[in-house]
Amino acid sequence: MSYPELLVDRVKLQHNVKTLLAMAAPSGLQIHFVTKCICGWRPIVEAMNEAGADYFADSRVENLANIQDIGLSRMMVRIPMQSQAMDTVRYSDLSLNSDLSVIESLSDAALALERTHGVILMVEMGDLREGFMPDELIDAASRVLNLRGVWLAGIGANFNCYGGIIPEEKQLKQLIEMAESIRRRFGIPLPIVSGGNTGSLYLLKEGRMPEGITHLRIGEGFLIGIETSFRRAIGDLYTDVFTVRAEIVELRRKPSVPQGMIGPNSFNEIPVFEDHGNIWRAIVAIGEQDARCDTLTPRDKNVRFLGASSDHMLLDVTHALRDFKVGDILEFSPDYAALLRASTSPYVNKRLV
Ligand SMILES: *Cc1c(COP(=O)(O)O)cnc(C)c1O
Repeated sequence: MSYPELLVDRVKLQHNVKTLLAMAAPSGLQIHFVTKCICGWRPIVEAMNEAGADYFADSRVENLANIQDIGLSRMMVRIPMQSQAMDTVRYSDLSLNSDLSVIESLSDAALALERTHGVILMVEMGDLREGFMPDELIDAASRVLNLRGVWLAGIGANFNCYGGIIPEEKQLKQLIEMAESIRRRFGIPLPIVSGGNTGSLYLLKEGRMPEGITHLRIGEGFLIGIETSFRRAIGDLYTDVFTVRAEIVELRRKPSVPQGMIGPNSFNEIPVFEDHGNIWRAIVAIGEQDARCDTLTPRDKNVRFLGASSDHMLLDVTHALRDFKVGDILEFSPDYAALLRASTSPYVNKRLV
């Protein structure tokens, strides 16, 4: 055993995957499960595949390369780098795109590798991250249709990211209309109309997903078990699939306010303190190199986060439910940001149980 560690509960993970698949099935929605937050870690992806997930998506070709043989489809969700056109085509069968020169490179790569590659054109619908402007779309579609190495698989939009824009029926209906006009104009099936990420799940839950949206890209939903537009629960999805565990290395009664002249802390911020008198304070061997510490929620609600630097996290355990001692293990629930950092940190031991 080595700490800090990231524990993944297989049963809860599989429950979340099955529940989302069952939610999507009645409306014929296809889900690509986005594995970037767990770096496409094979044991997790294999467990998801066992639970019925066949379509996976990631933002990194390295992660897609790792899960080549699992399931039926792999989608690249970050706009591909031109310099990675070959690997994008090698390791994914679909990619989200917003630049014609990149799509041309993908087409050349697909011809060279004798593979087919599906292009999904992203449309800018308010969140202001990736996408063609709506008035560029028909022209872009026509140019893609003239390339021999790629096929036009669909269109899509992204929400809840840069601008925090919540997808609503009105934007999704516009997206469906754009798909319809491409179908009519060019006489193609255009199967994928990708209506967003976990932030779109609330529409599905409330039975308001417009008919014609055929696809979602879901990451946080199955990992953390909440929808991201209003941060509410989704059905009976588990919100504790992941547990971060770390070890106490010091436990002492100390004052809650530092003494001396206050200057910048280890992250060059001037800290501010509330006086709680003398408190029982634990130093836990986990820091910003391992996870995002301020969004790791202690499972014991009476434990209070005080601060963290690269390698140390300080907690007030005065009112903790149990009496801790040095060497004890504390448990935390990571949010998406903390999970991302824990997944990418080489110092965190990962374990599927
Ligand atoms: C990361 C990502 C997703 C998944 O987002 P979640 O909020 O985790 O569901 C979907 N689409 C794109 C383009 C992404 O980059």
